[in-house]
Amino acid sequence: MYALVSALSGILVLQRFPAPTPEEHSVRVANVHGPKLLLILVIDQFRYDYLERFRPYFVGRGFNLLLGGANFVDCRYDYATTVTCAGHATLLTGAYPNVHGIIANEWFDNRSYRKVYCAEDSGTTLVGGPVGPGMSPRKLMGSTLGDELRLATGFQSKVVAISLKDRASIMPGGHTANAAYWYDAASGHFVTSTYYMQALPSWVAAFDQALPAKAYCGKAWQALPETPGAGGQVLKQFTPGLLERPCPDSQFLGWLNATPYMTEIELSFALEAVKQERLGQGATTDLLALSLSENDYIGHGYGPYSVEVADVTIRTDRYLADFLNSLDRLVGLDNVWIAFSSDHGVAPTPAFSVEHHLSGPAAAPLAVGAAVEDALSKAFGAGPWVEDVDEFYINLNRFTLQKRGADLAKAEAIAAEAAASVPGVRAAFTHTQLTQLQLLQGSLLYSPIMRKASNSFNEQRSGDVFMVQDPFAVTIPPGTGSNHGAPWNYDAQVPLILWGSVFKPGTYAVPCEPIDLAPTLAVALGLTQPSGAQGRPLSIALK
Ligand SMILES: [Zn+2]
Repeated sequence: MYALVSALSGILVLQRFPAPTPEEHSVRVANVHGPKLLLILVIDQFRYDYLERFRPYFVGRGFNLLLGGANFVDCRYDYATTVTCAGHATLLTGAYPNVHGIIANEWFDNRSYRKVYCAEDSGTTLVGGPVGPGMSPRKLMGSTLGDELRLATGFQSKVVAISLKDRASIMPGGHTANAAYWYDAASGHFVTSTYYMQALPSWVAAFDQALPAKAYCGKAWQALPETPGAGGQVLKQFTPGLLERPCPDSQFLGWLNATPYMTEIELSFALEAVKQERLGQGATTDLLALSLSENDYIGHGYGPYSVEVADVTIRTDRYLADFLNSLDRLVGLDNVWIAFSSDHGVAPTPAFSVEHHLSGPAAAPLAVGAAVEDALSKAFGAGPWVEDVDEFYINLNRFTLQKRGADLAKAEAIAAEAAASVPGVRAAFTHTQLTQLQLLQGSLLYSPIMRKASNSFNEQRSGDVFMVQDPFAVTIPPGTGSNHGAPWNYDAQVPLILWGSVFKPGTYAVPCEPIDLAPTLAVALGLTQPSGAQGRPLSIALK
């Protein structure tokens, strides 16, 4: 009898709460109280001081328009691996790598025992580009602002991400983006991956077909007359090989990639996306995540105090003004909110820093590897002990550890001590230390550098030892002038500007971290916070 009653009440419950239907899973709502279009504008490697140093040269409604918004003048990342993939993931998740898992652009993975790239995905292929593995945000842990917008509106809001770099498009797009496009420099085409779609939309195919790079054949990069220190001089000239080549070939496309002209191409692609995808024309808020990459390539090449960086910044101001004017015609700027920031800054070139007594040289990974190899061989016997070493991480050889019966925690400690003894390495923390620190966080006093290291540290992904270099000590990849990726403020301080009807214009010198950007926008839009958001809403700037 009891069983029967219970079974009947179960039926009653079922009748009262019928199983959700597919319609209920995709309920159509338009209840975000946002603008028609939210533009997340990121300029790769754009230091905060560029807005101040080059301000006298800004004209029109480019950076000047943004500077008329809510301008947070002391906004700094509080983590240690300030690189592109981690920075873009951080901006839209409102979280640091300890939570979103994107600890660097690439890292040695102790589980698959190989170097992995942050956006790699062998389960996908490229669309519109060369045959090869595609890309996706599968390594990104948790939701982004765009994901929450899509979820809240029953997927009525469109989210489109664009950049020259795959990682700078894919991470801001999040898991549920309608599309993420990036640029294939070998072909001069914008491409995507089967994660998003099986074929390029016809407008993208047409844009690629027209090959906008063609318009720049034979054109030198000549500084604007007003660029300080450059006086209209030619900064970069393309010199084709001995053979007569058709233009644009892959050599020319590679050259063009690190000139301001790519900004023009990228912005015209973004504008075409707004037109063709009818962004800002729907019943609810759409999101365009746009990351301009050229500034990073140019900054790497010449350093932050170069005339090249001055010229690209001043030119970007002009290009941006044109872009925003076009957006005004298409959507109406009254209907747009803009959030502007950057993924990281950059250090002066090593030669500049040494010349001006800011630092000694950085520790080369080779020197660090040799010191660790030596120390572990003395402690446990012959190696090889170092499986991988880069500017951040040391990964120890699992086979040698096993063969020598060495305790991992002990080996990590010896490796960290050896790494820290190399001139240029400021600090080295072990995997064990950082894991324990994260368990104890809140009950333990720890140094600011260790906190930044901990915010970069992901237990599942990070290597055995984590290093921080001395300030201004920069490891440069071959053929480049400078680099970023340190916890120091020249890499960590970036602009954060919120522009639009819901934000109170002004200059805010209050504490700010880029992880506050997504939480602030989530509050302004009435959204659930991205799943791992650690930042706080910048409520001082909300009306
Ligand atoms: Zn870079």
